Amino acid sequence: MPAMILIVEDEPAIQELLALNLTQGGHAVSRAGTAEAARMVMRDTLPDLILLDWMLPGVSGLEFARKLKSDTATRDIPIIMLTARGEEEDKIRGLETGADDYITKPFSPREMLARIKAVLRRRAPQTTEDVVEWGGLRLDPASHRVSADNNALELGPTEFRLLHFLMTHPERVYSRTQLLDQVWGSQVFVEDRTVDVHIRRLRSALEKTGHDRLIQTVRGAGYRFSTQA
Ligand code: CA
Repeated sequence: MPAMILIVEDEPAIQELLALNLTQGGHAVSRAGTAEAARMVMRDTLPDLILLDWMLPGVSGLEFARKLKSDTATRDIPIIMLTARGEEEDKIRGLETGADDYITKPFSPREMLARIKAVLRRRAPQTTEDVVEWGGLRLDPASHRVSADNNALELGPTEFRLLHFLMTHPERVYSRTQLLDQVWGSQVFVEDRTVDVHIRRLRSALEKTGHDRLIQTVRGAGYRFSTQA
Protein backbone atom coordinates (compact mmCIF):
# COMPACT_ATOMS: atom_id res chain seq x y z
CA MET A 1 0.00 0.00 0.00
CA PRO A 2 1.43 3.41 -0.79
CA ALA A 3 1.46 5.72 2.22
CA MET A 4 -1.24 8.39 2.33
CA ILE A 5 0.45 11.64 3.26
CA LEU A 6 -1.47 14.73 4.27
CA ILE A 7 0.27 18.01 3.46
CA VAL A 8 -0.79 20.94 5.62
CA GLU A 9 0.83 24.02 4.09
CA ASP A 10 -0.71 27.40 3.35
CA GLU A 11 1.70 28.55 0.65
CA PRO A 12 0.33 27.21 -2.65
CA ALA A 13 3.72 27.01 -4.38
CA ILE A 14 5.28 25.00 -1.57
CA GLN A 15 2.18 22.82 -1.24
CA GLU A 16 2.37 22.10 -4.97
CA LEU A 17 6.08 21.29 -4.81
CA LEU A 18 5.59 18.95 -1.86
CA ALA A 19 2.69 17.18 -3.56
CA LEU A 20 4.72 16.72 -6.73
CA ASN A 21 7.73 15.32 -4.92
CA LEU A 22 5.63 12.99 -2.80
CA THR A 23 3.68 11.68 -5.77
CA GLN A 24 6.91 11.06 -7.63
CA GLY A 25 8.18 9.29 -4.54
CA GLY A 26 5.29 6.83 -4.87
CA HIS A 27 3.04 8.23 -2.14
CA ALA A 28 -0.62 9.11 -2.24
CA VAL A 29 -1.28 12.72 -1.26
CA SER A 30 -4.03 14.82 0.22
CA ARG A 31 -3.70 18.53 0.94
CA ALA A 32 -4.95 21.28 3.19
CA GLY A 33 -4.03 24.94 3.60
CA THR A 34 -5.05 25.30 7.24
CA ALA A 35 -5.42 23.15 10.34
CA GLU A 36 -9.21 23.48 10.03
CA ALA A 37 -9.14 22.24 6.45
CA ALA A 38 -6.86 19.40 7.52
CA ARG A 39 -9.47 18.36 10.09
CA MET A 40 -12.07 18.15 7.33
CA VAL A 41 -9.78 16.02 5.17
CA MET A 42 -9.08 13.73 8.11
CA ARG A 43 -12.77 13.22 8.68
CA ASP A 44 -12.79 11.25 5.43
CA THR A 45 -9.46 9.44 5.59
CA LEU A 46 -6.81 9.28 8.26
CA PRO A 47 -3.37 9.74 6.69
CA ASP A 48 -0.36 7.53 7.41
CA LEU A 49 1.76 10.61 7.98
CA ILE A 50 1.27 14.37 8.19
CA LEU A 51 3.68 16.95 6.80
CA LEU A 52 2.78 19.95 8.89
CA ASP A 53 3.88 23.51 8.31
CA TRP A 54 4.78 25.34 11.49
CA MET A 55 3.53 28.75 10.33
CA LEU A 56 -0.12 28.44 9.38
CA PRO A 57 -2.81 31.12 9.43
CA GLY A 58 -5.22 30.58 12.32
CA VAL A 59 -4.30 27.52 14.35
CA SER A 60 -0.51 27.17 14.15
CA GLY A 61 1.17 23.94 13.11
CA LEU A 62 2.55 23.54 16.60
CA GLU A 63 -0.88 23.95 18.19
CA PHE A 64 -2.43 21.55 15.67
CA ALA A 65 0.27 18.95 16.35
CA ARG A 66 -0.50 19.23 20.05
CA LYS A 67 -4.21 18.67 19.40
CA LEU A 68 -3.58 15.66 17.18
CA LYS A 69 -1.31 14.10 19.77
CA SER A 70 -3.88 14.56 22.54
CA ASP A 71 -6.67 12.85 20.60
CA THR A 72 -6.71 9.04 20.79
CA ALA A 73 -8.01 8.77 17.21
CA THR A 74 -5.06 10.69 15.75
CA ARG A 75 -2.23 10.45 18.25
CA ASP A 76 -0.50 7.56 16.48
CA ILE A 77 -0.22 9.38 13.17
CA PRO A 78 3.41 10.38 12.63
CA ILE A 79 4.03 14.09 12.11
CA ILE A 80 6.92 15.77 10.35
CA MET A 81 7.04 19.52 10.98
CA LEU A 82 8.03 21.87 8.20
CA THR A 83 9.76 24.91 9.52
CA ALA A 84 11.41 27.96 8.06
CA ARG A 85 13.18 28.44 11.32
CA GLY A 86 16.34 26.62 12.06
CA GLU A 87 16.64 27.59 15.68
CA GLU A 88 17.44 24.84 18.09
CA GLU A 89 14.76 25.90 20.56
CA ASP A 90 12.02 25.67 17.95
CA LYS A 91 13.12 22.21 16.93
CA ILE A 92 13.00 21.10 20.52
CA ARG A 93 9.53 22.62 21.01
CA GLY A 94 8.34 20.82 17.89
CA LEU A 95 9.68 17.48 18.99
CA GLU A 96 8.27 17.98 22.46
CA THR A 97 4.73 18.19 21.10
CA GLY A 98 5.23 14.68 19.75
CA ALA A 99 6.37 15.48 16.20
CA ASP A 100 8.54 12.66 14.87
CA ASP A 101 10.90 14.79 12.87
CA TYR A 102 11.20 18.20 11.28
CA ILE A 103 12.38 19.51 7.95
CA THR A 104 13.80 22.99 7.60
CA LYS A 105 12.84 25.03 4.54
CA PRO A 106 14.27 25.28 1.98
CA PHE A 107 14.55 21.51 1.79
CA SER A 108 15.88 19.16 -0.83
CA PRO A 109 13.24 16.75 -2.16
CA ARG A 110 15.60 13.83 -1.70
CA GLU A 111 16.21 14.66 1.92
CA MET A 112 12.49 15.06 2.52
CA LEU A 113 11.69 11.67 0.98
CA ALA A 114 14.47 10.03 2.95
CA ARG A 115 13.15 11.47 6.21
CA ILE A 116 9.61 10.42 5.39
CA LYS A 117 10.82 6.94 4.61
CA ALA A 118 12.69 6.71 7.89
CA VAL A 119 9.65 7.84 9.88
CA LEU A 120 7.29 5.49 8.02
CA ARG A 121 9.65 2.58 8.49
CA ARG A 122 9.60 3.22 12.21
CA ARG A 123 5.97 4.21 12.68
CA ALA A 124 3.97 2.72 9.78
CA PRO A 125 6.04 -0.16 8.37
CA GLN A 126 3.00 -1.58 6.56
CA THR A 127 3.24 1.36 4.14
CA THR A 128 6.79 0.54 3.05
CA GLU A 129 7.88 -2.03 0.51
CA ASP A 130 10.28 -3.74 2.87
CA VAL A 131 10.12 -7.53 2.89
CA VAL A 132 8.91 -8.91 6.22
CA GLU A 133 9.83 -12.35 7.41
CA TRP A 134 9.05 -14.30 10.56
CA GLY A 135 9.77 -17.95 11.16
CA GLY A 136 9.66 -19.04 7.53
CA LEU A 137 6.71 -16.84 6.64
CA ARG A 138 7.78 -14.25 4.10
CA LEU A 139 5.82 -11.36 2.65
CA ASP A 140 7.12 -9.21 -0.17
CA PRO A 141 4.99 -6.07 -0.68
CA ALA A 142 6.76 -5.07 -3.90
CA SER A 143 5.98 -8.28 -5.74
CA HIS A 144 2.83 -8.95 -3.69
CA ARG A 145 4.03 -12.45 -2.88
CA VAL A 146 3.71 -14.50 0.27
CA SER A 147 5.46 -17.76 0.97
CA ALA A 148 5.54 -20.15 3.89
CA ASP A 149 8.61 -22.38 4.12
CA ASN A 150 9.29 -21.47 0.48
CA ASN A 151 5.82 -22.55 -0.67
CA ALA A 152 4.00 -19.79 -2.51
CA LEU A 153 0.64 -18.92 -0.97
CA GLU A 154 -2.38 -17.52 -2.73
CA LEU A 155 -3.98 -14.80 -0.65
CA GLY A 156 -6.84 -12.49 -1.46
CA PRO A 157 -6.08 -8.74 -1.41
CA THR A 158 -7.65 -8.20 2.00
CA GLU A 159 -5.87 -11.19 3.55
CA PHE A 160 -2.62 -9.88 2.08
CA ARG A 161 -3.08 -6.43 3.65
CA LEU A 162 -4.19 -7.95 6.91
CA LEU A 163 -1.16 -10.22 7.07
CA HIS A 164 1.15 -7.36 6.10
CA PHE A 165 -0.23 -5.18 8.87
CA LEU A 166 -0.01 -7.94 11.47
CA MET A 167 3.50 -8.99 10.45
CA THR A 168 4.76 -5.42 10.70
CA HIS A 169 3.19 -5.02 14.17
CA PRO A 170 4.10 -8.23 15.96
CA GLU A 171 3.40 -8.98 19.61
CA ARG A 172 0.68 -6.37 19.87
CA VAL A 173 -3.02 -6.97 20.28
CA TYR A 174 -5.38 -5.22 17.88
CA SER A 175 -9.11 -5.03 18.37
CA ARG A 176 -11.42 -5.67 15.43
CA THR A 177 -12.16 -1.95 15.23
CA GLN A 178 -8.46 -1.09 15.14
CA LEU A 179 -7.85 -3.64 12.41
CA LEU A 180 -10.75 -2.24 10.41
CA ASP A 181 -9.25 1.25 10.67
CA GLN A 182 -5.76 0.08 9.79
CA VAL A 183 -6.46 -2.46 7.09
CA TRP A 184 -9.80 -1.50 5.59
CA GLY A 185 -9.53 2.25 6.24
CA SER A 186 -11.52 4.38 8.64
CA GLN A 187 -13.94 5.32 5.89
CA VAL A 188 -15.22 1.82 5.32
CA PHE A 189 -18.39 0.89 7.11
CA VAL A 190 -18.27 -2.82 7.64
CA GLU A 191 -19.12 -4.90 10.65
CA ASP A 192 -16.49 -6.06 13.10
CA ARG A 193 -17.40 -9.61 12.16
CA THR A 194 -15.87 -9.00 8.73
CA VAL A 195 -12.47 -9.09 10.42
CA ASP A 196 -13.18 -12.56 11.79
CA VAL A 197 -14.10 -13.80 8.33
CA HIS A 198 -10.81 -12.62 6.83
CA ILE A 199 -8.78 -13.87 9.79
CA ARG A 200 -10.35 -17.28 9.25
CA ARG A 201 -9.44 -17.22 5.53
CA LEU A 202 -5.93 -16.12 6.34
CA ARG A 203 -5.46 -18.86 8.90
CA SER A 204 -6.71 -21.50 6.55
CA ALA A 205 -4.19 -20.34 3.92
CA LEU A 206 -1.42 -20.65 6.51
CA GLU A 207 -2.61 -23.92 7.97
CA LYS A 208 -0.69 -26.26 5.69
CA THR A 209 2.70 -25.19 7.02
CA GLY A 210 1.46 -24.59 10.57
CA HIS A 211 1.95 -20.83 10.34
CA ASP A 212 -1.68 -20.26 11.30
CA ARG A 213 -0.49 -20.53 14.91
CA LEU A 214 1.24 -17.16 14.50
CA ILE A 215 -2.15 -15.46 14.36
CA GLN A 216 -3.58 -15.68 17.83
CA THR A 217 -7.01 -14.85 19.14
CA VAL A 218 -6.85 -12.86 22.33
CA ARG A 219 -10.14 -13.43 24.08
CA GLY A 220 -12.13 -10.27 24.60
CA ALA A 221 -9.40 -8.14 23.01
CA GLY A 222 -8.77 -9.06 19.38
CA TYR A 223 -5.92 -10.58 17.44
CA ARG A 224 -2.16 -10.70 17.76
CA PHE A 225 0.63 -11.80 15.47
CA SER A 226 3.11 -13.59 17.66
CA THR A 227 6.27 -15.44 16.79
CA GLN A 228 6.50 -16.73 20.33
CA ALA A 229 3.80 -19.30 19.77
CA1 CA B 1 3.32 28.74 6.11
